[in-house]
Amino acid sequence: MKQRNFTQTDRHTFMYPLPKLEIAELIQLAHRSAQVSTECACARASFLCWESIPVSFPESQLQDVGTLMENPFEEPTFVEFHPAGTRYESSNAPIAPRYFPYNRCTISKCLVCERHFLRYTEAGGYFVDKRIRALNPELIVDASI
Ligand SMILES: [Zn+2]
Repeated sequence: MKQRNFTQTDRHTFMYPLPKLEIAELIQLAHRSAQVSTECACARASFLCWESIPVSFPESQLQDVGTLMENPFEEPTFVEFHPAGTRYESSNAPIAPRYFPYNRCTISKCLVCERHFLRYTEAGGYFVDKRIRALNPELIVDASI
């Protein structure tokens, strides 16, 4: 019987679907993303603030590279972090990984241009809405709960 050799990535995928990104890794990805200036189908909108993913968005180009969820067995808090009076929908709202909605986000990379995005699914009683925001390094804050 032929045995399949699992790569490191395979093994990782079996045990943890997505690696949890630490703040330093997140900032690094964000900086790399901010340097991308090539035109790409994913960059037709800037997604400075949270938006519903438009139907025209090339979602198939995105690959999840990590999660900000601390513990998959615990419901993360819905508390938001806005020390400077921003709101959920503000384009300058901080990206605070321990706070809503960042604490349930995955980080996705565009395979074509390598821009990175935050994504999560907003679920109400009768709807699910997939939302997206650009990963802006200037807005990331390591705020504790
Ligand atoms: Zn792209």
